[in-house]
Amino acid sequence: MSLFGTLFSKFKQGLQRTQELVLAPMGRLLGLRRLDEDQLEELEELLLQADLGVHGVARLMERLRFELKKSAEIDPKAVLKDELLKILRTVPPRPFTAQGTQVLLLVGVNGVGKTTTLGKLAAHLKARGEAVLVVAGDTFRAAAIDQLELWGQRAGVPVIRNQMGGDPAAIAYDGAASALAKGIPWVLIDTAGRLHTKDHLMRELDKIRRSLQKVIPEAPHRVVLVLDATTGQNGLLQAEAFKQSAGVTDLILTKLDGSAKGGVAVPILERLKLPIAFVGVGEQLDDLIPFDPEAFVDGLLDV
Ligand code: GDP
Repeated sequence: MSLFGTLFSKFKQGLQRTQELVLAPMGRLLGLRRLDEDQLEELEELLLQADLGVHGVARLMERLRFELKKSAEIDPKAVLKDELLKILRTVPPRPFTAQGTQVLLLVGVNGVGKTTTLGKLAAHLKARGEAVLVVAGDTFRAAAIDQLELWGQRAGVPVIRNQMGGDPAAIAYDGAASALAKGIPWVLIDTAGRLHTKDHLMRELDKIRRSLQKVIPEAPHRVVLVLDATTGQNGLLQAEAFKQSAGVTDLILTKLDGSAKGGVAVPILERLKLPIAFVGVGEQLDDLIPFDPEAFVDGLLDV
């Protein structure tokens, strides 16, 4: 299967719940060549339920109405695809290419799938033949450190840790220094996700940043915010807070497979104006896929 074919089927599988619960009734409407006002309203409602966002849906409906005025017959699916792709392509992707040693901080609140994602990302990079060092920077939760170590074993990459309660900035420094000395291209640092102590958390991230910069002045090269798709647009406020205070550069959207709100990728990207680097579509090591707008839209509308 081609790379696009593989991505498409992964997205389709990941978006299954969204399709079953929300988008399946849309199939009938998308098969029509003309839509009356009632049918347009029905379609609008379904798009909103898939969590495509008020703004995005308004844009889609406007385009459909425009096309309906212009032509006697339209292909609603093709029109939606085209407009969705335009929205998704407004934020250019930042390819994950290794240049020297790249330090990546993973941030996000507890439970979003940060640890799991870090393991999957390590496996993804390793599968590309690039060495990875994982740093257990969430020193507050002993369980998180153990879990990360387990993911490191599964992915076959080393994990460095200090004892629980240790200084995350110190272990981050050690990780960056060790990777630089050994020529390891990727350092993935897990961070704490205690939202209720936000100021403390942000101070901790600042401290990690400063100590990384003593080793590599440009570090961290990426700050990746992990978001849980099942929370839909509720996660957006949280994401905006992180974007501002943690200097987020990329997003990873997890649990797309468990969500009926798979469309949320659209308002997330629109509002945050940050690229979605990967999406999580399951709990296995290979359930992290690069976000490909075309495969995503095809998977979403393949009803
Ligand atoms: P953390 O607290 O943010 O580090 O979250 P964890 O990595 O411990 O994940 C929380 C739960 O979400 C675990 O049960 C994971 O297996 C699950 N999880 C993480 N990513 C995905 C995903 O893409 N799909 C599904 N279905 N579950 C996920």
